[in-house]
Amino acid sequence: MDLGLLCVHAHPDDEAIWTGGTLARYADAGARTAVVTCTWAAGTGRAGELERSLEILGAGGPRLLGYADAGKPDSAPGAPRFVDVPLEESVGRLVEHIRQVRPDVVLTYDGYGGYGHPDHVHAHRVTLAAAEAAGYDQLYPGAGDPWRPRAVYLATFPRSVVVAGWEEVFGAPPEPGQTMLGVPDGEIAVHLDVAAWAERKWAAMHAHESEVERGASMTLLTSLPERARAQLLGNEWYRRVSFTAQPTATSLEA
Ligand SMILES: [Zn+2]
Repeated sequence: MDLGLLCVHAHPDDEAIWTGGTLARYADAGARTAVVTCTWAAGTGRAGELERSLEILGAGGPRLLGYADAGKPDSAPGAPRFVDVPLEESVGRLVEHIRQVRPDVVLTYDGYGGYGHPDHVHAHRVTLAAAEAAGYDQLYPGAGDPWRPRAVYLATFPRSVVVAGWEEVFGAPPEPGQTMLGVPDGEIAVHLDVAAWAERKWAAMHAHESEVERGASMTLLTSLPERARAQLLGNEWYRRVSFTAQPTATSLEA
């Protein structure tokens, strides 16, 4: 398969949780896959866990921007928080990776960062800006030859799945006015069945040993009833933002 995919994530473990099935499925089909991680520095324990997760998913070595997690200064000692770095700089850093990888498709979180984490929301914004900037020879001339991805895919959930799963996960229906995850079903461009890769995804998630111990996402997923976990692990959904003039099929460009 002659296709390149580049995922941009805020933290080590998000590549497995949000896009692990897609990465494994496309790597198995022969696509080039890579992951940029915005926070945590090389040499930290979590960077080592990321390396193992990427190996399981077949996504190459870590590409760390090396900024600090918004809530964890020890994630990158001496480096600024990702959310505080001027866009001019963080967009330029990501443009460099896009021009190196030359992906057809860039993937990141939806505009709500999946569930509102400030690092995720920021990664979404920086990714959209960088995917656009990477195609201009006038911008960041020192960061490699211009490259225009065809589309950016935003990992999200259809609202119907969120509502149906809410009671199963939290033990009660959503309160009126509750902030919900995901987007209206009609905004989903791609539903990827990754059930056959769910075990690899689960293994990649468990490569992040320190997060398995204390991370909220992993604790929640582990505590889920089997059926709900299988549903979450076996399906990935995306909104699609086109960066080309030509209309294309609403698949992952395959
Ligand atoms: Zn995260």
